[in-house]
Amino acid sequence: MARTKYTEFLCGYCNKNTKMEMVGDLQVGQEKMWLKCTRCHHMSQMDLKLRANDSKNGKLDAASATKYTPEQIFSVGQAIFHSEWDDVGKVTSKIKTSDGHMAIVVTFEKQGQRRLLENFKPELLDAVL
Ligand SMILES: [Zn+2]
Repeated sequence: MARTKYTEFLCGYCNKNTKMEMVGDLQVGQEKMWLKCTRCHHMSQMDLKLRANDSKNGKLDAASATKYTPEQIFSVGQAIFHSEWDDVGKVTSKIKTSDGHMAIVVTFEKQGQRRLLENFKPELLDAVL
């Protein structure tokens, strides 16, 4: 007998994320699974295949990526979101530009490889101007 397992899932009846009881044993390769809401006791079906694909294809998610601002410092491998271009990318390396600024090299999904400033201090620029 498997122990009862619970997970957070969106219940269509409660219309919110609730604690759900996983119904039945989870088999390897199983594509769908029934969950029972602990609040309203209605059953919901979770598509496991869909979830697995989401995490497997390595698509960058704008919601979880860090929004790019020039003042920030980024690290290699970090996912960032550029709101102006509406594009997500991954920091592949860090460089110093010829004029002494710190920059990140980012491979964007739509824009391709781009250089963006980081650790940029606008107040210093204002002082110069
Ligand atoms: Zn419910």
